[in-house]
Amino acid sequence: MKMVPLHVSSCAQSAHFHSLAQAIDAQQVIQTAVAIQQIPAPTFEEQRRAEHVRDRFIAAGLRDVGVDALHNAVGRWPGADPARPALLVSAHTDTVFPATTDLTVREESGRLYGPGLGDNSLGVAALIALAELFAMHDIHPPADIWFAANSREEGLGNLDGIRAIWNALGARLGAAIVIEGMALGRVYHAGIAVRRLRVICRAPGGHSWLHFGQPSAVHGLIDLGARIMALTPPREPRTTFNIGLIHGGHSVNSLACEADLYLDLRSEDPACLQAFERTVRECIDAAAQAPMLTFTTTVVGDRPAGHMDHAHPLAQMAGAVLDLAGIPAVYERGSTDANALLASGLPTVTVGVSRGAHSHRQDEYIETPPVAPGLWQLALLVLSAAEWDFQGGPSCE
Ligand SMILES: [Zn+2]
Repeated sequence: MKMVPLHVSSCAQSAHFHSLAQAIDAQQVIQTAVAIQQIPAPTFEEQRRAEHVRDRFIAAGLRDVGVDALHNAVGRWPGADPARPALLVSAHTDTVFPATTDLTVREESGRLYGPGLGDNSLGVAALIALAELFAMHDIHPPADIWFAANSREEGLGNLDGIRAIWNALGARLGAAIVIEGMALGRVYHAGIAVRRLRVICRAPGGHSWLHFGQPSAVHGLIDLGARIMALTPPREPRTTFNIGLIHGGHSVNSLACEADLYLDLRSEDPACLQAFERTVRECIDAAAQAPMLTFTTTVVGDRPAGHMDHAHPLAQMAGAVLDLAGIPAVYERGSTDANALLASGLPTVTVGVSRGAHSHRQDEYIETPPVAPGLWQLALLVLSAAEWDFQGGPSCE
């Protein structure tokens, strides 16, 4: 099917895109990214970032700008054809870093280091820049564009931010583009299924010397951890586990009354994930055979897999745009806000702004040179998607 690359190249040659592309200021977007990164935004505490984005949306001239109860900041750029399903462009604002994290940014040989800078302050900065570019040049493609800086993508947010946006706007949407700061060159068109369990172990407790040999919640939890670590999940389809958090006990010379762990399970295939979760639950049942120990398991995260064929026009569009930018496209599965949208049946791709590494670590960095081509391909993708009729085909002349 040649239609999509033709559509993209005709959009790239349009006067609209020329004015957009000429106004792209990568340096300014990087500065915005740093300004956003300096506002702490652990999952559930995105309010200040949301307010910052809201103010930028208002200043840009977006319509229907607001922040909802979950700290999602949204705004609408009106399209020319009210009947056309809208395009959603989103970037998550939350980070995995606690509010007390040192957010100092430093530059070193084309790399900008700072916790949360690539994931996802750069994505949010690109989102703001896109809204400003469309407004500054008064470009109204057929479809409305909803710009959304959403909460709760990371950790235990469970994609509740983007789900709330879907609940509010879903009926009006025809497609979505999710921006992740460091994903340049990747086109995520399918989700990885994720389940997260919290397991609490409880015991009566006691004195480390006087009651030695009696059950301890920490010992019980370690026993469970060892059982889980002995499991070998399937390589194909790729299935993984991680015990990411563990807490417990109250003093070094006491038998622990309570201990808990958080377990993250992922798979390319939802059926494999279900089967692997059953195996994990058998481990929990086996550990619970110990006398006077109780285990309680709760599901604290459930991300659906969702899937869009990589031949879908939106996925092809993302690839064609990268092609024009001279960046090789890699089609992949991911775990992003797109999971929830894809699972709801909305054609969605996740794409990047730049390259980078060490996400979720203190030494996270982005490369600054790719930001300019990254913004270029993003602007072209948004324009091409807003010009495309996802029910009927291309509308560009
Ligand atoms: Zn992210």
